Amino acid sequence: MNTPSDSPDVLVAGGGAAGLFSAIAAAESGARVVVLEKNPRAGIKILMSGGSRCNITHHCDNRGIVSAYGSKGKFLHSPLASFTTQDTIDFFESEGVATKVEETGKVFPVSNRASDVLQAILLRAERAKVDFRYSEPVTQISIKAGIIETVSPKGFYKPKAFILTTGGLSFPRCGTTGDGYKFAASLGHTIQPTRPALVPVAISTPWVKELAGITVPDVKLTLSVRNNNDCLNVVGSTRGSVLFTHVGITGPCPLNLTRIEAPWEEPKSLYLEADFLPNFKSEEIAVLIQENSKAHGKKSIASLIAEWIPRRLVDALLAKDQLQGCKLAELSKANRSLAINLLKAAQLQVTGNLGYEKAEVTSGGIALEEVDFKSMRSRIHPNLFLAGEVLDLDGPIGGFNFQAAWSTGWLAGKNAAKTKNMVGENPI
Ligand SMILES: Cc1cc2nc3c(=O)[nH]c(=O)nc-3n(C[C@H](O)[C@H](O)[C@H](O)COP(=O)(O)OP(=O)(O)OC[C@H]3O[C@@H](n4cnc5c(N)ncnc54)[C@H](O)[C@@H]3O)c2cc1C
Repeated sequence: MNTPSDSPDVLVAGGGAAGLFSAIAAAESGARVVVLEKNPRAGIKILMSGGSRCNITHHCDNRGIVSAYGSKGKFLHSPLASFTTQDTIDFFESEGVATKVEETGKVFPVSNRASDVLQAILLRAERAKVDFRYSEPVTQISIKAGIIETVSPKGFYKPKAFILTTGGLSFPRCGTTGDGYKFAASLGHTIQPTRPALVPVAISTPWVKELAGITVPDVKLTLSVRNNNDCLNVVGSTRGSVLFTHVGITGPCPLNLTRIEAPWEEPKSLYLEADFLPNFKSEEIAVLIQENSKAHGKKSIASLIAEWIPRRLVDALLAKDQLQGCKLAELSKANRSLAINLLKAAQLQVTGNLGYEKAEVTSGGIALEEVDFKSMRSRIHPNLFLAGEVLDLDGPIGGFNFQAAWSTGWLAGKNAAKTKNMVGENPI
């Protein structure tokens, strides 16, 4: 049984991406660091990330990361200045993990093994003498005389600084069950409403299921919401690849779509439209069809469109109006418009998304205004530091979420290590 006298300088709750980096930064700054991790091992999400290849960051400078986060990006300036995208690459390269940039700008280990990424982090933590206590969840935290007391099933701790990095609610099987929100709320922090994000979209349109396994590299999805007068208001659109599945659509384009704030729990109010040829205007497609009709009149409209997008998708789209077999020379003006409309504005019936079980991140979390992002210190309790997904921060697909976790974790660790016994001192 642990006693308070064993208490470290810095206690980190949660050994995920942010917790591991904050533990390393604090320990390398000379602090005695203990990490309490609920699971029997650290970094489970790192192992499963990027299709078990781990997309560690994005090939861009700090400004690129800030802009990917939209209006909340401004909070990331200081964390990114303390640990840049180049620092991420240097960190792994210096630990023997060579990295590569893919066409999409995603940065991966050359080995394509997330296990190499995690091993590098754990070796660095071991060298810094971070003390990991596995299968030891934090069950309660409270403030007594200005000190954060932490309870686990194995004892209690009174660290000089406490770093909360317990993640969000996504993939709860990984141990992320929103514990940090409860702890932070109990200490007076505001929790912005949470919802699953970067999650596959469920679609009931029958032909979608028939296409399971097919990827379309460039699609524009536009999401609208019906108002009380039954008018559609566009709430956002995303562009990128789409993978059809047995339940709907996934891949960067639909996953990023679910970051858009919309009534996902009321799918009847949502209207989703897919543009399968976003590089072409409708008039340009009409011209292409006319030109081909003159030169290759016997060619079917389906064969022509299959030169641009997968044949099975073409057949599925045209089947509704039985246009597949139609020869270009015989295509009426009305049917040509119909075909173009099916390509440029196919309606997909949304029935929701797959929820936290399949969401890569959680949108919402600890209110950003209550955190001093120059240090990652809570503006409510000076001994409390916050980093990673437990904050109200979520980025798009592409390595942005790990970069935010590494950077906020690093800055929190550096500053937590500086925290002497702050009892009685004024919060910032
Ligand atoms: C399938 C999947 C693939 C992904 N792929 C990528 C990718 O390729 N690139 C990218 O940038 N992002 C990716 N992400 C997102 C990325 O994993 C997260 O943004 C990142 O892990 C957040 O880091 P974190 O440390 O804040 O939280 P987490 O990594 O979730 O870590 C939180 C840790 O806290 C522990 N914990 C929870 N409660 C307690 C408690 N009470 N006591 C002690 N410990 C506790 C958990 O067990 C967990 O280990 C992916 C996510 C998923 C689910």
